Formats: sequence, structure tokens, C-alpha cells
Amino acid sequence: MTTKTRKFYRCDVLPSPMNHGKHARVFALLQAWRRVAVLHGREQWRIFYQRGALDARLDSRTGYDQVGTSFGQMVRSQVVGVLDSFLSNRQNDFRDLVNRSSLDPSLKHQLHFINRWRAWQTLSVPLTMRDGVVIADEVRQLGRTIFRGVMKRHRRPALHRLNMVVDQRMVSVSLSHTASHFRMWARLSTLEKRQPVDLPLETYPYFTTRAGTRALTVQVNQRSDGSFGVGVLTDVTDAFAASRAAYQPRCEALALDLGLNTLFATDQGDLVGRQWRSKLEYYDQRITKLAQYLQKRGLKPNRHARFRKYVAAMRGWLKSEVGRCLNRLVALRAPAELVIERLDFRAPGLSRRLNRLLSNMGRGFIEAKLKDLEERFGITCKKVIAAYSSQADSACGYVDKNNRTEQAKFKCLWCGHRRHADVNAARNLVQRRSLGDAGTSRASRDALLGALVSQHVARYNRPRGRSADPRLSNPYFRSWTNSVRSIGAYT
Ligand SMILES: [Zn+2]
Repeated sequence: MTTKTRKFYRCDVLPSPMNHGKHARVFALLQAWRRVAVLHGREQWRIFYQRGALDARLDSRTGYDQVGTSFGQMVRSQVVGVLDSFLSNRQNDFRDLVNRSSLDPSLKHQLHFINRWRAWQTLSVPLTMRDGVVIADEVRQLGRTIFRGVMKRHRRPALHRLNMVVDQRMVSVSLSHTASHFRMWARLSTLEKRQPVDLPLETYPYFTTRAGTRALTVQVNQRSDGSFGVGVLTDVTDAFAASRAAYQPRCEALALDLGLNTLFATDQGDLVGRQWRSKLEYYDQRITKLAQYLQKRGLKPNRHARFRKYVAAMRGWLKSEVGRCLNRLVALRAPAELVIERLDFRAPGLSRRLNRLLSNMGRGFIEAKLKDLEERFGITCKKVIAAYSSQADSACGYVDKNNRTEQAKFKCLWCGHRRHADVNAARNLVQRRSLGDAGTSRASRDALLGALVSQHVARYNRPRGRSADPRLSNPYFRSWTNSVRSIGAYT
């Protein structure tokens, strides 16, 4: 019997300053790589729509004439990886959409089944659930319609801008013994047979002190200014096993609320990432102004180097800010589990363009960082439903639209409890762990509201009288109001 241990890798991008001749040869390879990637992309999408799945081992020679067999295979497996992760994001979108819908539970169940097997396209192949039920054609068609709707909202991955992921067949990394300044080299094969280039790699302390074994695959990235960087992978499996063993949680769970003004508020009252909003506004202004300027001149912003540079700068800031804030919270509270809502950035008051950028990148960065924390320290992550977390009071459980009067302030109309609104929201999230099915990220808003209302009326079952009992005029409590009226407990 073999036990499969999970392997963990981390990538550090090292600058690689190179002369003109080397640059030209690496650039030629990159251009060919991207051309071939686009061809593979077309081929894989076609297969996906015909057979319902991508194929990493497809027997075709696409691009071999342009980059050779080894590079050609590498491009294909990279393209399949990119498309596969794009599809799993759409799978998440599909799931969220079905959960939030008002469809009946058994229909939802069938749609989730279709989604789990990615059987959105292949309607001619019958799909049998575990209990033997064959999913009906109408449901399959509904599944396909939902999937198409989800796909329409997202641009397909931009394969013409792919960076190269090269494995040991065509690259080798070694330490330099002669030069004093560069400590590492990557020998990369090129389009010319048996004429590799040696790329100098500039190391930095974070990289040299990273514990682990260097892997044999590298990424060759081109930056927006045209220069190249080489991403070196390190196998950190053993190092992470050690840090997981050493991690000592100091609290059971820490809930995070994704805020508009501060990036994260916790149920313990921490507010981290306070510059968040002003920094976003700053990027929004710069990006929007430049986009308007370019569009007026009939230019596409995405094709413009300066525009891409701005977006790249925001991306870099967002990624490091998410990492910094979560690292700080882990250092501060050392939780065994993190509790979060559905990760959806939406910032009212910012442009649509920025909101789109945010929702495309933000979720990915947080998810990547949460995964990092799990691999590194064993901190698990629990997703709960976010609905009503800003309207419910974390002290008495009373839920009312009017509990939150201002953006930052929360005051409960039932018990008068006051709190920072985001901290209150985070406290609600942590309580949803113990709410059972109604509290999971898969629950519906209605089921959750029902659970919150019945919890509150069970706790405070006697009405206080018209002026003192906000529940009597609260639409969430309508059925309770009717029932107390009908038995004459309140007139
Ligand atoms: Zn209250």
C-alpha cells in the first residue's frame, strides 16, 4: 500500500537582467509559446464543448512545427491547467448562483450534481444520480442555460499573454561558481536546436532563506516593462510539515468580515487594512482617468502599456495587502480555524471597471492566501453564509433592516446594543458555525432568515407592546406578528 503525500511548492520570481541578444532569443521563444498556446486553447475549447472535458493527453501535434515536441507538450499541459482552473471558478459561480436562487431543493440538488460532474454541455449522455434517478432533459437544459450565463460574464483566459512554464526537459537551474554578482543561472533551451541561453538570476534574502528543495520547473515571466523574471519553484513539503507541527492555536475560530473601509474586521474587534478604501479610490481615479483618455482617442485601454502597468500595480498592492493583513491576524490571534463569508468584493462608490477588476482578482488572492495558511500552519477555513450579517445583532440575534443606520455604526433596535458594524458582522459569522445547515455557505437566504427569526422569538416569546417591540412592524417577523395577533397575545 502506498500513501500519497501531498506536495507543496512555492514560486519566487527572480529578476534576470540580460543583454540584448539573449533578450531577443527569449522573447522569440515567448512569442512562439503564446502563438501555440492560443492554438491549443482553441483545440481544448472545441473538445470541451464536444465531449464535456478538457484533454491534457490529447494525441495531436499542434504547434510541434513551431516550437518542437517538448515545448509543444509543455504548452499543452500549461494551457489545460489554466483552462481547468478557469472552469473550476465557473463551477463555483454556478454553485453560488443555484444556492442563491429560489428553486426548490430537489431541483437544486440535481443542478449541483450536474455542476459537480461538469456535465453542463453533454446533454446526450445520460446522467444518473447516486439514488438511481436519471436527471431529466429539462433540468439538463436548465443546467446548460445557467452555465452559459455564467460563462458569458467572464472573459476566457488570455492565452496570448501567457508566461512560460518550462520543465526540466528544457531548463536547468544551477549555482554559479565564477561570477561574483549573480549566484544562480538558468540554462534555457531556445527555438534554435542545441543553442540554449544562460540567464543570470538575481537572488534576494527571502528566496535564499526559504527552506525547502528547489524544484526542476521554472516560470519565465515577462513584466510590463518588457524585462524578464524567472520564477523558481521550491518544494516546501518538509518545511511546511515542520511549521504545521510547531503551530499552536490560541483560539478556536476567528471570523473575518470583508469590509469597505477596512479590509478585514474580526469578531475579536481587530480592524486591519485601514488604508484599504483610500488606496482603492486612488487606483480607481488613476485607472478610470487613463481609460477615459484612451477611449476618447479610440484606443483600447488593455492594449496600452501604461494602463496595464497601473492595473499591474494595483494587482501587486492588493495581493501583498491581503497577505500582510492575514499574516498579521494569524500572528495576533493564532486561530485553529478561520470563518469567512462568500468572498465577493463589491465596493459601492467605485467605478464599474474597478469593481470588475476587484472581483476578478480579490477573491483569487484571498483564496490563495487561505490555502497558503492551511498548508503552512494547518489553519482550516470554514465558509458560512454572509446574508443578513450586517442586519443581525450579534448580542441578542435580532435582525432588522434598520439596525444599521450608518456605514460604520450598528445599533440594535431590540436591545440597544451598539458596536462597530463590521465587527458585529464578523461576530455573526462566527455564530453561524453553530447554526447547522442554515448557516453554511450553501444555505439559502430564506432558510437563514427563518432560522434567525425563530431563534429570536423562541428566546423572547412575549411581545412588548406596539411602541417597544420593533418586531411588530418588522416585515421579517410578519408571520410571528400574525400568529400572536391571532391568539390575542397582542391587539
Ligand atoms: Zn440586540
